[in-house]
Amino acid sequence: MSHYDFIVIGAGVIGASVAHHLAALGAQSVLVIERGTIGAGTTSQSSGLLRTHYSVRQNVELARSSWWAFNNFAEYVGDDEASCGLVKCGYLICAPEGDKLDPLRASLAAQQDMDIEVQLLDKVEAHERLPIANFDDAALIGFEPEAGFADAYLVATGFARSARRRGVKMRNVISRRQRPEVAFDAPSARSARLVVAPAAPEDWPWFRIAGTRRCRGSQQSRCPEGILCCHATRCVPVQP
Ligand SMILES: Cc1cc2nc3c(=O)[nH]c(=O)nc-3n(C[C@H](O)[C@H](O)[C@H](O)COP(=O)(O)OP(=O)(O)OC[C@H]3O[C@@H](n4cnc5c(N)ncnc54)[C@H](O)[C@@H]3O)c2cc1C
Repeated sequence: MSHYDFIVIGAGVIGASVAHHLAALGAQSVLVIERGTIGAGTTSQSSGLLRTHYSVRQNVELARSSWWAFNNFAEYVGDDEASCGLVKCGYLICAPEGDKLDPLRASLAAQQDMDIEVQLLDKVEAHERLPIANFDDAALIGFEPEAGFADAYLVATGFARSARRRGVKMRNVISRRQRPEVAFDAPSARSARLVVAPAAPEDWPWFRIAGTRRCRGSQQSRCPEGILCCHATRCVPVQP
């Protein structure tokens, strides 16, 4: 296998996005290895919900910062034909009296504090928007008009096409065993600057390749190796 600076395992929406962003940031030598087809994992099962309503402020910030990309996907990936299939139908959330009421009130207030448009609906307004739902016991109803859903498969393929156009190599590895180690030989993994494995379970034997070590950073924190970990991604920095 040739040398690559960056190796991404799995072309789901995360791997395709990582590949696109590496290339867009100027990485010259990126390889994506996919054992099936682009987006065929959980990506193609996703409901694709896009909203900024989250109970953790950092997640609200992350969702808000990605909003421009989804609203302007073609421009974001630099491809006139790209579409993320965005449908802005709004996002409605409600809670009855009880222990879920205060957390919902707090997260709606936090969104409003962050200048995100959130409306409080009464039961009649909510029913007009969603006639199939019964709001009889709803004590609080929030509505985020800008929210909606996109098509995760289109997003993954849009990122993958953009990555390819920018020089990223995509390799399809189909094996009977479908195990990661068949996709690699140890020297090529050792010579990469970074291996990103969004799909990797903890016990992948691949992580035990001599000469590599697992990123010790905890999820959503800055890793001691200086690599920013994201929620779904495990990084394997290679020992110098
Ligand atoms: C029913 C459902 C609804 C969801 N709804 C939402 C939602 O509304 N909003 C939201 O944000 N998220 C939602 N999600 C979650 C979202 O779909 C996932 O978080 C996202 O798709 C994960 O992307 P990924 O690239 O990490 O994984 P995947 O899409 O699973 O991609 C992993 C890829 O790695 C490949 N792979 C695996 N092992 C190997 C190997 N050994 N060698 C090479 N390639 C390999 C697989 O073939 C696959 O293509 C939903 C998920 C499901 C199942």
